[in-house]
Amino acid sequence: MKDNLRVTFLGTGTSQGIPIIGSTHPVCLSTNTKDKRLRVSVLLSWKSYNYIIDCGPDFRQQMLLQNITHLNGILYTHEHSDHTAGLDDIRPFFFKQGDIPIYAHKRVVKSLKKRFGYILKKKDKYPGAPSVEINKVKNNHSFVIGDKEVIPINVLHNKLQVFGYRVGDFSYLTDVKTVKKKEINKIIGTKVLVVSALRIDPHISHFNLEEALDFIKKVNPEKAYLTHISHMLGFHDEVEKKLPKNVHLAYDNLTINL
Ligand SMILES: [Zn+2]
Repeated sequence: MKDNLRVTFLGTGTSQGIPIIGSTHPVCLSTNTKDKRLRVSVLLSWKSYNYIIDCGPDFRQQMLLQNITHLNGILYTHEHSDHTAGLDDIRPFFFKQGDIPIYAHKRVVKSLKKRFGYILKKKDKYPGAPSVEINKVKNNHSFVIGDKEVIPINVLHNKLQVFGYRVGDFSYLTDVKTVKKKEINKIIGTKVLVVSALRIDPHISHFNLEEALDFIKKVNPEKAYLTHISHMLGFHDEVEKKLPKNVHLAYDNLTINL
């Protein structure tokens, strides 16, 4: 059992994943495994703890690929489907462990109640439906998962509030377009920063590559990884070559030890 945080990229793709169904775009047709990207999520593990950030539609596949046998909880960044659609597949963990803790902004909890009412409701449950333990995340209020403190980072995805998370020397921000100075201060000093970079062209609700690189300069971590990548960013190996020394493209199943 290791005390140090280990981060595994379960998925590094944007909402449709790469390849996109039916696409003939060269990046979608690439045979390089680093160009295959499941929907975005990371696994945080240390000691015997396993937490994930977001639970998208590829959650089942991601748990199988990493051979995860127990799950201590799910931290949500926001309610969009590519970050939440896998919730039903917590069933194998629920059957073994009971209610699975989730951590989310109250607006995200409300959205999950609407879309997964049969999971979040307390009474008259369908036999076999899983249950969760709801933990509401508030800005400027840190909370504890396992034995580690988590600091929520409040960012904007166009106009939608999204939470990033800092755990010790690791910070994770996805689906980000605007970050206030006060929030940047919360992640200054982080050794490893993960931030989303959708594509080369600007986008209304996501950092493009240039904006992500500017943001990384402001935070100045030892190392940064880009995630939530669309096929329009280009081939992994070609983009990787053009990045500053301390910045890398994340890829599925990459593990980093802090
Ligand atoms: Zn997303």
